[in-house]
Amino acid sequence: AKGERLDKILSNLGYGSRTEIKKYCKYGIVTVNGEVIKNSSVHVDPQNDEIIFDGEKVNYRKYIYIMLNKPQGYISATYDDVEKTVIDIIDPEYKVFDPFPVGRLDKDTEGLLVLTNDGQLSHRVLSPKKHVPKVYYAKIDGLVTDEDVKAFKDGVTLDDGYKTMPSYLKILRSDEISEIEVKIYEGKYHQVKRMFEAVDKKVIYLKRISMGNLKLDESLALGEYRELTEEEIKLLE
Ligand code: URA
Repeated sequence: AKGERLDKILSNLGYGSRTEIKKYCKYGIVTVNGEVIKNSSVHVDPQNDEIIFDGEKVNYRKYIYIMLNKPQGYISATYDDVEKTVIDIIDPEYKVFDPFPVGRLDKDTEGLLVLTNDGQLSHRVLSPKKHVPKVYYAKIDGLVTDEDVKAFKDGVTLDDGYKTMPSYLKILRSDEISEIEVKIYEGKYHQVKRMFEAVDKKVIYLKRISMGNLKLDESLALGEYRELTEEEIKLLE
């Protein structure tokens, strides 16, 4: 049959355990397309069937879009044997939608990470042809100079011989520990760290602050997340 068992759908959405859902159905408080469903094991297609639980429409959507302020110590994957993943951070009511991270931040990188189950959006944002800009804030060990700004603009050669596209380095503070912002238009592995290595410098802290026109909501503490608004979803495209 099409869809999934009604008890499974409702328990995944946080309406109770399967046993509880079975009871609620017996009471007659669950309807599907206007019909009272007493048997919780029936198959329902939540994309198309209208489920009402105790008088309220069940909020099932096809896609979800979450903005996470990623803390350090979590890897950008959906599953790992050893490491904690960014998916471990989110509540079961979101996990039912099977979100995955749009691109990757290193384990020790913080900041903006979008989680979604919208594969097409993810594909568009990450497509190497699209050059969606990403802005990072970083702390660098040592002085960052105007020569570095120029080198980044011209493109630097990474350890594997790849020459980066023009990128824009803004020095916020040049000191023993410097603070910068850098805007890049591609997403090679460890790109920001390797670009600084190319000019003999070391990134000691890294945080992503934007992706496309979407900015990290600074009111989110590390490890906090919220759903994107309709407008914000558009900013990613
Ligand atoms: N560049 C890096 O080096 N690390 C990240 O996590 C993101 C960009």
